[in-house]
Amino acid sequence: MLVRLSIVAGVCLGLTHWAPAQRKQNPAADLLLELIRVNTANPPGNNRDLAELLATKFRALGVEVEIIPTPEPQRVHFIARVKGDGSKRPVLLAAHADVVGVEREKWTVDPFAGEVKDGYIYGRGAMDYKGGIAVFAEAIMELVKNHVPLHRDVILLSEADEESGPYGTSWLAQSHWNRMDCEFALNEGGWIIKNAQGGVQYVSISTGDKVSIPLLLTAHGTSTHSSMPRPDSAIFTLSKAMAKLADYETPLELIPSTREFFETLAKTSEPPLSEYFADLVNSKDPKVIEEADREISKNVLLHAIMRNTFAPVFLKAGFRGNVIPGSAEATLNLRVIPGSDLQGFIAQIRGAIDDPGVDVALPSGDNPDAARVKELVKEAESLQSSSTSTDLYRALEASAHATWPGTPVTPYLFQAGTDAIAWRSRGVPVYGIYPYPITPEDLTRMHGNDERVPIESLEQGTEMIYKTLVRVASQ
Ligand SMILES: [Zn+2]
Repeated sequence: MLVRLSIVAGVCLGLTHWAPAQRKQNPAADLLLELIRVNTANPPGNNRDLAELLATKFRALGVEVEIIPTPEPQRVHFIARVKGDGSKRPVLLAAHADVVGVEREKWTVDPFAGEVKDGYIYGRGAMDYKGGIAVFAEAIMELVKNHVPLHRDVILLSEADEESGPYGTSWLAQSHWNRMDCEFALNEGGWIIKNAQGGVQYVSISTGDKVSIPLLLTAHGTSTHSSMPRPDSAIFTLSKAMAKLADYETPLELIPSTREFFETLAKTSEPPLSEYFADLVNSKDPKVIEEADREISKNVLLHAIMRNTFAPVFLKAGFRGNVIPGSAEATLNLRVIPGSDLQGFIAQIRGAIDDPGVDVALPSGDNPDAARVKELVKEAESLQSSSTSTDLYRALEASAHATWPGTPVTPYLFQAGTDAIAWRSRGVPVYGIYPYPITPEDLTRMHGNDERVPIESLEQGTEMIYKTLVRVASQ
């Protein structure tokens, strides 16, 4: 049965001596329900109403707020700034307000109704990342309500255009950097994963994101009448190259955060996986490492974080039923570990294809797409993971230990990209977390159907973020 949580925790019936509402207070859950009910699917990415909703709540507490318009009036950035005494630089909490669209017929609930079932809140964005907005906003409002004296500003930034669109944080940073400048920031990223007993297995905090780069494969042949096939078919040449890539695996590349992550998994998993995790980071025997890699790689997420990856995403060839086309093109989506040798990675792909008839190249030319790729290449080659020896990372670690005693905390390389690049490319450390314990099964629903987040996890997450902010920002 579906139950709607009341937004108003206690309904006044004129009987003032009555006890407060029976339901335990969980303001982050209430706020999340409100946020889900504002449809911010991107495209079209209208998030102005959501910004107004947040503005009302923060203004009511006397907090300075700002809604920053983009060239498209419905896509806005929202900023709430709780003032500190200025003796230290701000801490910023970034959370994107847009969400991906839905395949509505595949959901068992209305994705934009904010429904509560079996201890979960369901809805598009419940996890990614309206849950994050709710937790961050509630933790910050709690600081204000408790009159915690601050030595630095605490900033909430609820962003436009993270999932798609041109006016995300990189756009904001170009025109409004002074508003988002900070000593360090929180963002989406790592996971708090539940174990089978309902406790927390580990807390992972992402310190880097992979960079997404397109790579073009082009085969050439004679363009001619299809009644007279020739041996130099561009489509066949490209197909053979693709078949080779289908069987090719990129080498392991374990950066320090990935090593630490697998060490944590080795300590918190059951055999035989725990042994494979330990072998992966400790063994010197290539055969043992290879076997560990093979077993661990059955988990596609883990497979993705221990190497650069490539995936075919577009094929383009042919235009008439009676013409053999003169070229055929495939686009691979590369996901590159920050700081990795990109040219070396491209050389591996070229080597795997091993055919001079197939050009392997980054998009080039005098066009905006090529210019964007140039920037991405620079980022992939120069970006380093954020340091774990900052006050914010240490505060996250200590608060996670306080909230879930005995649970290991580890840095993590996020397998996808986020909008953290706006800060990291300017040297500002960013730490990513989905601040609520979830199961691996919950995780698979992200960007999928019946996305959900456990209600009690929102409460725990708010506690953890609140404690983090007190540690890092209170006087
Ligand atoms: Zn997200």
